[in-house]
Amino acid sequence: MEGSPSGGSRGKREGENEMNTALAPELTVADRCDRCGAQAYIRARLVSGGELLFCAHHGREHLPALQGQAVEIHDESARLTETPASAPIDER
Ligand SMILES: [Zn+2]
Repeated sequence: MEGSPSGGSRGKREGENEMNTALAPELTVADRCDRCGAQAYIRARLVSGGELLFCAHHGREHLPALQGQAVEIHDESARLTETPASAPIDER
């Protein structure tokens, strides 16, 4: 005999993927450094609610000062170290 009270929903989870679009936004070519206008690779979300965008150069320069003011620092500057293999090797 089975007196199981449950038996309604059968784990149908639609629309779950849509939630992920809000997760971890990536910086694009449309994001520009606030200082020089170059492509931004670092984004700092401030405690005050604002956001700052920096290129790798200015990010490195300003991040130490932002450590106390930023709630989140998104750093994609590591992407820059992936240099294309076509770079000529200058060897003497
Ligand atoms: Zn810059």
